[in-house]
Amino acid sequence: MPELPEVLTITKDLNEHLKGSTITNIKITDKYKVFPNNAAFVNTVKGKKIKEVTHIAKNIVFELKDQFIVFHLAMTGRLLLRDRVNKTDKWIKIVFYIDNGRKESVLTFTDMRTFGKVKLYSEEGIKELKKRYGPEPIDDSAEFDVFFENVRSKRSNIKNVLLDQSKVSGLGNIYVTDTLFLAKVHPKTHTSDIDRSTAKILWDSAKKILNEGILHRGSTLPDRMYVDIFGKEGSHQDHFRVYLRDNCPDCDTKIEYIKLNSRGTYFCPSCQVLP
Ligand SMILES: [Zn+2]
Repeated sequence: MPELPEVLTITKDLNEHLKGSTITNIKITDKYKVFPNNAAFVNTVKGKKIKEVTHIAKNIVFELKDQFIVFHLAMTGRLLLRDRVNKTDKWIKIVFYIDNGRKESVLTFTDMRTFGKVKLYSEEGIKELKKRYGPEPIDDSAEFDVFFENVRSKRSNIKNVLLDQSKVSGLGNIYVTDTLFLAKVHPKTHTSDIDRSTAKILWDSAKKILNEGILHRGSTLPDRMYVDIFGKEGSHQDHFRVYLRDNCPDCDTKIEYIKLNSRGTYFCPSCQVLP
């Protein structure tokens, strides 16, 4: 599933290439459904200029005049920018025809498992959407104190809380796993055992891990599901610390693999011990 580094890579590239362009037409494949409904979506979006492409947590947001298109890629969604519809692109759900005044191109939304969502939002709706998410570690205006309070407010293991987007936004299974390793915190540590200084180490570790992921343009796993808007893979998978690894990069102990809240979890039993 795309996490913040993948979403940011996609968002930045889309903004660079599509800002100021006009969506001249939209084609939705027969059975695919967008919100509120396909006809309203096409009528609203057709002919509109893209003012900016930004993100809210793991959502990709196209700002139009008074309206916003919000994409959530979920497990297998992709946004691909092409010169023309590429017949070899599989699972195409929506095609946006784009004109930037000099050149025409197409943006395709593809989704193999169709857990992704494409919705229209009003300005009010966007404000509500923002409220659903916790602070983002790489956001300079995000407050550590809010993160600390959010962590302590949920009685669960720390890994589960870091995955909860309402508590802290942007982290998914990959980046949480490596954040916990960098912070030397066992994934099963109960939140009541996370004091302020440990929370600060976690917050700073999350920032570092996310920034590394952004630098490497995201992580493409062996399923090769994540690609950027040009169809290229990320390279952060070559820099994982314990995620999918056999041995600890710090002490060479064999990495343990467990299921925690039904999510695959890797940790070093020597470096990450329960308090
Ligand atoms: Zn270790």
